[in-house]
Amino acid sequence: MADFHFDVDADGIATITWDVAGKSMNVGSLEGLELLNELVDRVLTDDAIKGAVITSGKKDFAAGMDLNVLSDMRHAGGENPAENVFNGIMRIHQLFRKIERAGLDPKTNKGGKPIAAALPGTGLGLGLELPLACHRIFVADNPKAKIGLPEILVGIFPGGGGTVRLGLKLGAMAASSLILEGKMLDPKKAKAQGVVDEVVPADELLSAAKEWVKNAKDADIVKPWDAKGFKIPGGGPYHPAGFMTYVGMSAVVLGKTQGVYPAAKAATSVLYESAQVPFDAGLKIEARWFTNVLMNPSSSAMIKSLFVNKEALEKGAVRPAGVPDMSVKKVGVLGAGMMGAGIAYVSANAGIEVVLLDTTEEATEKGKAHAAGILDGGIKRKKVTPEKKEEVLSRIHTTTSYADLSGCDLIVEAVFEDVGVKAEVTKAAEANLPENAIFATNTSTLPITELAKASHNDERFIGIHFFSPVHKMMLVEIIKGKKTGKEAVAKALDFVRQIKKTPIVVNDERFFYANRCIIPYLNEGLRMVGEGVNPALIENGAKLLGMPLGPLQLVDETSIDLGYKIMTATKAAMGSAYDASVADDVTIALYEQGRLGRKSSAGFYDYDAKGKRTQLWEGLAEQWPEADVQPELSTVQHRMIMAQVLEAVRALEGGVLEDIREGDVGAILGWGFMPWSGGPFSWLDMIGAARAVEICKNLEDQYGPRFKAPALLEEMAAKGETFYGRFGTAKAA
Ligand code: NAD
Repeated sequence: MADFHFDVDADGIATITWDVAGKSMNVGSLEGLELLNELVDRVLTDDAIKGAVITSGKKDFAAGMDLNVLSDMRHAGGENPAENVFNGIMRIHQLFRKIERAGLDPKTNKGGKPIAAALPGTGLGLGLELPLACHRIFVADNPKAKIGLPEILVGIFPGGGGTVRLGLKLGAMAASSLILEGKMLDPKKAKAQGVVDEVVPADELLSAAKEWVKNAKDADIVKPWDAKGFKIPGGGPYHPAGFMTYVGMSAVVLGKTQGVYPAAKAATSVLYESAQVPFDAGLKIEARWFTNVLMNPSSSAMIKSLFVNKEALEKGAVRPAGVPDMSVKKVGVLGAGMMGAGIAYVSANAGIEVVLLDTTEEATEKGKAHAAGILDGGIKRKKVTPEKKEEVLSRIHTTTSYADLSGCDLIVEAVFEDVGVKAEVTKAAEANLPENAIFATNTSTLPITELAKASHNDERFIGIHFFSPVHKMMLVEIIKGKKTGKEAVAKALDFVRQIKKTPIVVNDERFFYANRCIIPYLNEGLRMVGEGVNPALIENGAKLLGMPLGPLQLVDETSIDLGYKIMTATKAAMGSAYDASVADDVTIALYEQGRLGRKSSAGFYDYDAKGKRTQLWEGLAEQWPEADVQPELSTVQHRMIMAQVLEAVRALEGGVLEDIREGDVGAILGWGFMPWSGGPFSWLDMIGAARAVEICKNLEDQYGPRFKAPALLEEMAAKGETFYGRFGTAKAA
């Protein structure tokens, strides 16, 4: 079935309607663009046609290029994949440039046919790049529509002319926030920023666009950069003000990305270089950089984890087969503290009825006020209306009585982290629940199988582990106890789908998956402090790897007393198997000095009177004097990466993880593991198992057996295997 329909009205205006069959949203494909090329030729060569409107047959315009096509382009290139990618991109440029020039005489800029874009809703990526090549962009006044170029979020950048055109249309400064941060705007904001030209009522969209086409003169369809005397808004690289913009942009990009994201660097280069050459040469530069990025293993790893596999997990890739839809209608949330209040909010916001229970009315009201606070923030940012706020809050019913839980089909327990308290509330809740309800605990450290003992039906007992702050963190870790049945797993997955987060499903072992990997990272940072490594070397080493927070800052954020509690409980649980280290001494010392982190405005860092982090605490050097010989930056970094990555491999080896896709996606969304790498398994595939084993050997010799390569990694190194080659998308053994 064709991706585009074509018709011509009595006035000779053609309508090209994008409407990919069998999909709710248009996405670009190579075949689709070939067809568009033919239709554009028809418009330009048929004398009876005066101009055209490109629109969509769906409620939105388009979500961009199908990212699978992009990765296929790389693989389909045979011996010269770069050439294949470059030629593919240049074909898109030629098509869009043909639309833009629309038959205009190159010398006189006369004789062209107007082509307008009419977007009924969202236009992202290629779905904005095509309109940017048209002569005027009309968007329906639909506040839900998103307009933008979000490619950077999955490790690439706009390569269909979007970077060059937006850079020239808005100037580098304004274009950079859209291109380098992937900001998406509603239609009115997009118009205010000059990205689109007209916002019109939805029912007038097509007529307004056609009217413009009917009346457009040659001068209306010549793009500024094709007219004589064009000057880039804000000035080009050789203009004194423009010069500052480009220098500033480059500094900001490097400051934010530490140079580890190839796409951000490439997009900055395109903005800078294309501003200095004729327009068509600019497009060629964009195509070169785009090819360069697409050939970089980081971009394919990011596309794989942050788009393809994340979407597969959200769509139920690991949902047990044969279980009918288990969508949640009414959820009971036990405990209205920080986590419970957040869980109540995200559930109510997704349209689910919520019963929020705590021991006192004061506590439940505080929990509901937390939800109101988030919604107020949304009202301030004009993302939420006052009516929406009332509607969401009306779904949160607060109570101190367990009887009110009757009719709940799911419970999420978020009371104190204490086996006794959790057992008590489990029993009290179950006494009031229908037989088929599922009971979930949000524990962060207690074994699910242990907690399930308090339940009268451990098949219907499961872990649903949220991250803090609940309304911002996109990952939810679902943990199966030894007896958890498939209906409970399906219920948890359906719930996570309803609240629009990304699930991973793991088995029940100490700290599950995310915390299991992040704790060794924190400990490695603490160990290094104890060994006299300069704390700035540790923190900057982590940031240069693309970790969002260094380990010391992360400990400050999550609080030293939490670390102290986890350490004490782990010691008690593991007994003689506990690997005591200088990290414990550092934790205990800060704990005893009351330096609990951000919450006490004192930790590894100092904080000012307003609670703003200022600098690393100088007292660290007094208690743990800096060693005379400092390690190499790469050694510090290898220690921090391997602390996390080896734990992920052990989680796979031990069966906690059943699917490496979950290991990669969970690592990026759960604790911000170097997103440019695509996750721990993608990173290992990038450097190769043999190199990983070599790094482990060096670290093991210097720092001890915690860095010993797991047998699985040794075996893969010997056989020359990769994780995605060996485990693919299938479940691990
Ligand atoms: P919190 O102390 O902020 O809230 C706990 C709430 O439970 C309090 O409002 C308390 O009054 C209530 N409560 C205690 N006993 C109760 C009972 N018998 N009946 C009803 N309500 C009772 O704690 P939190 O940070 O929200 O953590 C809650 C759970 O979530 C814990 O199991 C914790 O390990 C887990 N968790 C916390 C985080 C985090 O970052 N804080 C992250 C993931 C999971």
